Amino acid sequence: MSAPAPREVVVDIRDVRRIYETGDIVFEALRGVSVQIMRGEMVALMGPSGSGKTTLMQIIGLLDRPSSGTYVLGGRDVTTLTENERAAARNTDIGFVFQAFHLLPRLSLVENVEVPLTYAGVPPRERRERALHVLARVGLDSKARNLPSQISGGQKQRVAIARALAGSPTLLLADEPTGNLDTRTSEEVMAFFGELHREGTTVVLVTHEQDIGAYAERVVRVRDGVIESDTRQTPRMAAPLRVTG
Ligand code: ADP
Ligand code: MG
Repeated sequence: MSAPAPREVVVDIRDVRRIYETGDIVFEALRGVSVQIMRGEMVALMGPSGSGKTTLMQIIGLLDRPSSGTYVLGGRDVTTLTENERAAARNTDIGFVFQAFHLLPRLSLVENVEVPLTYAGVPPRERRERALHVLARVGLDSKARNLPSQISGGQKQRVAIARALAGSPTLLLADEPTGNLDTRTSEEVMAFFGELHREGTTVVLVTHEQDIGAYAERVVRVRDGVIESDTRQTPRMAAPLRVTG
């Protein structure tokens, strides 16, 4: 029998600080954070409002850069990349899901899912095929030509998840993904993240809700810009996603 493959570090953050300067006010939102996330993990970043969760998530997602410290993503030091290189890395490596969905209102659902593929330079026909395929995964292929205004909040978040998955990212990042959803719909969305995790996707989720954090196998607690604790738990398993396309 061969030994199990060593687990690969996807996110390697060391002593990261993030200082915001607004006029005369200097505020240190992250005060020396180190965290490693392995391929295939599902991690919840938790902590009270204002603790630095979104700041850390934006650094992980290459939407922001640390004031100091290092970030190695998938073995590559991304601290020193140019803006263009960071945008390219974001496109190929990272899928984002936000609290407010951020769907484009004038585009159909399938066109919304295609947006990141367009930026990635995927040709139109392949783009459409891939977008329809991921829409089917979230149970919404029958609504591909609908507009976002014609579907429910839970369905919008599923479209946003499809859009995040379309480029087959290394890392799926979600910042308060259930913040605008009712309990039952939140459970559906979390069940889906759990399913993706069990298939091998690396998922990092920001939440301040205990019930939502319970779906992760690891909880990293942030408080006042530092990591307060980092613990493993048995994740809550939800009923399988009941497709309500
Ligand atoms: P969380 O997501 O945990 O609620 P954030 O990362 O959004 O926390 O914010 C952490 C702290 O940094 C808060 O005190 C917030 O006011 C401050 N902050 C966040 N973004 C900025 C910014 N662009 N300019 C100045 N301060 C900011
Ligand atoms: Mg936040």
